[in-house]
Amino acid sequence: MLTVDEALQKVIEHAHVRPPSPVAVRQALGLVLAEDVTSDVDSPPHDKSIVDGFAIVVEDLARGVTQFDIVEEVMAGGVPSRAIASGQATRIMTGAPVPAGATAVVMVERTQPAPGGATPLGKVAIDEPNATPGQNIMRRAASLAAGAVVLRRGSEIRPIEIGLLSEVGRSEVSAHVRPSVAVLPTGNELVSVVERPGLGQIRNSNGPMLLAAALRAGATTLDLGVGRDNEESLGRLIGRGLRCDILVISGGVSAGVLDLVPKVLADAGVKQVFHKISLKPGKPLWFGTQDCDGPSGASCPRLVFGLPGNPVSSLVCFELFVRPAIARLAGRTADHLRTVSARLAADFVHRGDRPTYHPALLDDAEPEAVVRLLPWRGSGDLATLAGANALARFPAGDCEHAAGEWVETLLL
Ligand code: AMP
Ligand code: MG
Repeated sequence: MLTVDEALQKVIEHAHVRPPSPVAVRQALGLVLAEDVTSDVDSPPHDKSIVDGFAIVVEDLARGVTQFDIVEEVMAGGVPSRAIASGQATRIMTGAPVPAGATAVVMVERTQPAPGGATPLGKVAIDEPNATPGQNIMRRAASLAAGAVVLRRGSEIRPIEIGLLSEVGRSEVSAHVRPSVAVLPTGNELVSVVERPGLGQIRNSNGPMLLAAALRAGATTLDLGVGRDNEESLGRLIGRGLRCDILVISGGVSAGVLDLVPKVLADAGVKQVFHKISLKPGKPLWFGTQDCDGPSGASCPRLVFGLPGNPVSSLVCFELFVRPAIARLAGRTADHLRTVSARLAADFVHRGDRPTYHPALLDDAEPEAVVRLLPWRGSGDLATLAGANALARFPAGDCEHAAGEWVETLLL
């Protein structure tokens, strides 16, 4: 059986980034840029004031001048029409262009109106003997210069990037489109959330959970409904699911009589890459691919995951394998397994020949993170997982782990 790392390596090998396409910047949140973006403007576009105040010849203050004739007012969006000379000031608002001749701006809080004056705008008294040249002026192109690359391909588009793209005049960019993920829970025992399960039945919790997990991982989703444990039902729904980049199936991949998923996938032309891995929970995991040519003729196989039906196994396998695959298809290069080392809060005896991912509560307060294991009743126990924020990883083999020992945790 493959280890988790070997299995993940195989998934990543088959996960090819989706081709870039033009995307409206308003729709691009969370996508990965497929082009270098340059600025078409200087920012700021002119020497600008960063405060409300008065633009002056700062050397006047060192010479003992304290009263200035106000020669003009410039608001944000306005343009100064005249240069200032010694003894003069321009009233200026934040963001407005600094007039020619001015060498500093004094904030309005350090000034007061003064009587008299040679202009209709009056005089201002300035009390700031230590003003320095350039103060409160942001120079043209100090933030970015026209022609400079402001964002590199491969950057994730967060709200900050949306702002920057807008600043440089882009309403559309080339980005990797969201991978599409189809979700197919299977099982004759499944009833919908609005039904009350009869004897032998359970509600379909995996379907909504996996759709939500795929959405959060940055995919678009297709809800295929519930597949029943017969070849006709599975074949029809799997056929529809194979139109997406990734098909995520839950259930039907273990050793039961009605675990028909691997056979139906083979009949649909999906090639098995691996089946069963050394992992608890999640041993029955199935992974395969279906060849398909991308727009440029490059191969970009569809990925198919058969997750074990038990909800905790399904979620653990999603976090360990499906989420990194979605990230790859979306153009992200980081592996996206977010791990933190933490000290065990209490002794723990691990038994079993597979590495175990145990629901846990991680407290990563400085200086050392501490992890508390939750009392867990196995891979059907979604209620305990709901109280967890991490999975603590224990290597294969029977072993007594002492409180204070360092363990790896995977953040949920
Ligand atoms: P399977 O992998 O199909 O053998 O299913 C293993 C266990 O997971 C069984 O107890 C199922 O009832 C349960 N299970 C399967 N599918 C789901 C689902 N969609 N939601 C909740 N539990 C499920
Ligand atoms: Mg089943």
